[in-house]
Amino acid sequence: MPSLPHGLQDFLHAMPKVELHCHLYGTVRKETFADLNRRAGSPLPDEEITGFYTRGEKPVGVLRVLRALDASLVRAPKDLYRLAFEYLQDAASHNVRHSEFSWNPTGTVRDSRIPYAAAQDAIVRAIRDAQAQFGIRAA
Ligand SMILES: [Zn+2]
Repeated sequence: MPSLPHGLQDFLHAMPKVELHCHLYGTVRKETFADLNRRAGSPLPDEEITGFYTRGEKPVGVLRVLRALDASLVRAPKDLYRLAFEYLQDAASHNVRHSEFSWNPTGTVRDSRIPYAAAQDAIVRAIRDAQAQFGIRAA
């Protein structure tokens, strides 16, 4: 991607933003993904995680990587809290003021075996904490 003139880059960064229709599992930091994968005994090879974060001609293995989050990496409400809080921290650093994001509770309940109420509670706590710390609002 061609680089932008400095003034334009600063302007775009400073512009307040709204993020809509964000899929939480698509926002996971690479270090967090690798961390959760290690904790689970590395069900995904490192190359697959790296591939997920590499923008190529077309996405490779994206669904498989995302399903791994439900199947073996997200294991407790605190994991959902971490994903949501880190996402909102990252979004706030780009001057996103409001985010509308979602996650797939079916996979969480069925595959991660986290009850819906506990999962939702963890995400709502992350939203409240992120708002208090970074001023970002989310729903
Ligand atoms: Zn969607």
